[in-house]
Amino acid sequence: MDFNTRCIHGSKDKYDTTGAVSVPIFQSATFSHPGVGESTGYDYARLQNPTREYLEKTVAGLECGCDAMAFSTGMAATATLMEVFSPGDHLICSYDLYGGSHRLFNHISVKNGLLFDFADTADISAVKNLIRPETKAVFIETPTNPMMQVTDIEEMAKLCKKHSLLLIVDNTFLTPYFQKPLLLGADVVIHSGTKYLGGHNDTLAGFLIVADKELAERMRFIYKTTGACLSAFDSWLLIRSIKTLPVRMERQQETAMKIAQWLTEQKKIKKVYYVGLASHPGIEISKKQSSGFGAMISFETECCDTAVRILERVEIIKYAESLGGVESLITYPMLQTHADIPEEERLAKGINDCLLRFSVGLESAEDIISDLKQAMEG
Ligand SMILES: *Cc1c(COP(=O)(O)O)cnc(C)c1O
Repeated sequence: MDFNTRCIHGSKDKYDTTGAVSVPIFQSATFSHPGVGESTGYDYARLQNPTREYLEKTVAGLECGCDAMAFSTGMAATATLMEVFSPGDHLICSYDLYGGSHRLFNHISVKNGLLFDFADTADISAVKNLIRPETKAVFIETPTNPMMQVTDIEEMAKLCKKHSLLLIVDNTFLTPYFQKPLLLGADVVIHSGTKYLGGHNDTLAGFLIVADKELAERMRFIYKTTGACLSAFDSWLLIRSIKTLPVRMERQQETAMKIAQWLTEQKKIKKVYYVGLASHPGIEISKKQSSGFGAMISFETECCDTAVRILERVEIIKYAESLGGVESLITYPMLQTHADIPEEERLAKGINDCLLRFSVGLESAEDIISDLKQAMEG
């Protein structure tokens, strides 16, 4: 089945006998047993729920994994994944990473005995140099948040295979519509389903998709035991959203390209970070491993005043955290998503008081541009 069709018809399994075209919301915490020692396949909703299962099968299919687990948030997915590791295990992560993942690793996972090193994962040799006998995994985002650095997934997967490390890819920014890390050799894909998969800025969700059956079984055991599962209703919202994932991604990307180009021509804008611009250092790797550049743009204004002015004066665009939805959102990484990162480290990454991160929504490019224009100049 083609990707577009899979988004609509997800899983072939039938969960309903009425012919309902929309998957029913099974709002049931528990399921009765037909006989002693017998099960309908559903026992208790933390373990299985038919609506969530439909969603999980759909997402596993889209990412080409053997299993997918739906979580209440993206962070719940990452935190649950950390349970496969043991005290003393060492992980190498992208230097430029979603702020919440940083907070989890540095403030919670370390307390549980996990060890972390951060590297510019766009540079494979930088990762190679950090590998030691305790190293168990490499955790990357590509493109990264918010600096849009691109890592060669296939090359990283080769390095990981050689050293028996798990390669974990946070695929939130591109979604399987544009990039399928498991087909490039990654072992686990993470999503904040809150972003493009949910796509409407109205639902929190997260996913783990696993390539290998054995690891999937271990993850399932942890998942059903720790319990950060997605509710039936939110699962249904995600099923509904994924049906339009391809058209949303296409249009949002098309608009992002126009806006990125327009930004490069503005005197008050110093730098534009968008993977689809010819000047972006990661464009060639991106073309090799992804079928699109996505719709996330970061840009640096010529002074802090302009950045603040944009945030305070935009009207159609909302000054809010999050990304990937139909509404365009602009955020201030320094104060929001990356506030917990020590200043020196943050500045070294380029996250300064002039940097804004822009998630392009489904409004018209013309309206978005005139909103940015009036905010900058007004
Ligand atoms: C938002 C986000 C997360 C965390 O997801 P939540 O659903 O907010 O918990 C993880 N990774 C990336 C890249 C994100 O943008």
